[in-house]
Order: sequence, then C-alpha cells, then structure tokens
Amino acid sequence: MALEKIDAAALDPARTVVVATGNAHKLVEIEEILGRALPEMTFVALSQLGDFEDPEETGTTFAENAIIKAEAAVAATGLTAVADDSGLMVDPLGGEPGVYSARYAGVHGDDAANNAKLLAKLEGVEDAVRTARFVSSIAFIEPDGLVTMGEGTCEGVVGHAERGTHGFGYDPLFYADAFDGKLTTAEVPSEQKDAISHRGEALCAFIREFEKRD
Ligand code: IMP
Repeated sequence: MALEKIDAAALDPARTVVVATGNAHKLVEIEEILGRALPEMTFVALSQLGDFEDPEETGTTFAENAIIKAEAAVAATGLTAVADDSGLMVDPLGGEPGVYSARYAGVHGDDAANNAKLLAKLEGVEDAVRTARFVSSIAFIEPDGLVTMGEGTCEGVVGHAERGTHGFGYDPLFYADAFDGKLTTAEVPSEQKDAISHRGEALCAFIREFEKRD
C-alpha cells in the first residue's frame, strides 16, 4: 500500500507529528490511537515527505531501534517524530526472530518468506510450547531532543498455517491469548486488534508518560 506524497511547506510544524514508517498499516494503527490523545496533531508518514534513506537498525533492543528511527526522522525533517520498533519473540526459538522480525528470511518486509521460515523452524514443536509475544517500543522525540517512550506486549501462540487477511507481518500465524487462542490477529478488523495489540499497549503507555509532563 503506497502512501501519497505531501508538501512539507503546507504543514504547521507545531501541529505535525512525523511517523517514522513507510508501513501504511502502522501509520493507520498509530494515527488511530495517538489521534485520540493528541487530536490537535496531524500525523504524516516520513515517506510522504520525501525519499529518506532508512537508518540502519543497529540496536539490540526494540527501544534502541525505535530511538534510532525517530531520531533520524527528526534530523531529516526538523519536526516531532514518533517511531515504533516491534517484532515477534518466540519462546521455543529463544526469542527469535526478535529485532530481526522484519528481515528474518533475509529480505526486509518479505512477510510471506518470514512466515514460511518461522513455520519451518517450528516444525515438530508441540502446540503447548509454541508460546510467543509481539513486543513494541514507541519513541516520541521532539525537535529539542526530548524523548518519551512507551512499551507493550501481546501474548499468544504461533499456529501451523496462515489464517486471515487483515493486518500484516506475522498476524496470520499469531493466535492471541486475548482472543482465547481461537483467532489470529489477521482474522479481526483493525479496531479489534488495536484494542489488544502490543503497539496499542505501547502507545497507551507512551500517552500516560506524555500526559505526566503537563
Ligand atoms: P519494524 O518495522 O522494524 O518494527 O519490524 C517489525 C516487524 O515485526 C514486521 O515486519 C513484522 O514482521 C513484525 N511485526 C511487528 N508488529 C507486528 C504486528 O502487529 N503484526 C504482525 N507482525 C508484526
């Protein structure tokens, strides 16, 4: 899903938050939740403002990578930026794919290949121990360098075959505990996933931190 370009000159810098992602699904999820807490702000994706090179995600934690992405967006635009770094941690694989979730099978963002690799790695692993969690770290960085963070998780189990057409990434394989392990996060509309998702929890944690400052 490609996002439309926006003329940066038409934006009010005091009322704009750049979402450091080219992933339209994440933009929608972040905008839906942060928009309720910050209704005066307009959210735009970094990729809508120009063709910026992605920074190297050299962090060893989701939080470090979220800061790297948000800092790069502030440096590129001079605007407030928010970034999420997220991924799936699978217990019987020692936390893999973790910070490598987006590029698990080698090519960044190749969801089909990543899911196929995950299923292959879990071949023969019993249902009872296929436990996993999505983790999300949010970094919100203002032009003066002030950093506010939030973190969230979503517990579940990895299935044996893809189910559902909503969402992205590992959603078709992830049976969330919050849905009693009966539905994958790709089988529910975005509002239902937001209500239980790691990113939803991280954004709410961020909002609580942000509101403490006022
Ligand atoms: P990031 O864009 O570097 O944060 O990489 C996140 C990667 O983790 C995505 O490409 C997906 O593979 C996976 N991921 C993160 N959040 C979700 C989610 O909500 N559903 C499914 N997969 C996710």
